[in-house]
Amino acid sequence: MTDLLYRADPYLQEAPARVTGHTPEGGIVLDRSLFYPTGGGQPGDSGWLVWDGGRLAIATTVKAEGGVALVPAEPLPLPPVGAEVRQRLDWTRRYRHMRVHTALHLLSVVIPLPVTGGQVGADRGRLDFDMPEPPDDVPALEAALNALIERDLKVTESWITDAELAANPGLVKTLSVMPPVGQGRVRLIRIGAGEDQVDLQPCGGTHVARTAEIGRVEIDKIEKKGRMNRRVSLTLAD
Ligand SMILES: [Zn+2]
Repeated sequence: MTDLLYRADPYLQEAPARVTGHTPEGGIVLDRSLFYPTGGGQPGDSGWLVWDGGRLAIATTVKAEGGVALVPAEPLPLPPVGAEVRQRLDWTRRYRHMRVHTALHLLSVVIPLPVTGGQVGADRGRLDFDMPEPPDDVPALEAALNALIERDLKVTESWITDAELAANPGLVKTLSVMPPVGQGRVRLIRIGAGEDQVDLQPCGGTHVARTAEIGRVEIDKIEKKGRMNRRVSLTLAD
């Protein structure tokens, strides 16, 4: 299985790896990956692979048998199985995903309603809430969200067993995307600690280390999506 470098250190931008396989769809499987695969509403990473005799732009990354597969942006020859490669992330794009993704965790703090879906982008992100009535003061929500960001809270991870998660169903905010159970343990993302803890939920995505890295955000629109649901979108202001 691919060693998930993005999970151990989401700030790592470059690393060596070895090609362990090609997928039938033309993807490249590495023994260790900086590239996050599409999942949990967060897009797959893009970037570059360089090796002795070749260079390939990577358009996105997907989950695959044996780990994750990097999807080439152009139909060029792939590095052969066994090749030693240098992998480099499109860090500008990935870091914006990390900022938007972490901002969505905080959005679920200022709107404490069940989440039914979400999507992360490089400029904006959104969450769908089980929200029959629109919020009456959007500027106040935006101010509360930016106040949490400015507190520069630490974002940390910990792991619990499937059994501990089953005993604490209140940890799961996302109704449509259950955390991946069945591997024996589940990753929790905590924002703030001790008395300053504001959020704790299962998540497999990539996050910034401190909330101030998100920068100021704007809540741009709230759309009605069906009788019970509303979609809340936010944008990075810088
Ligand atoms: Zn997350």
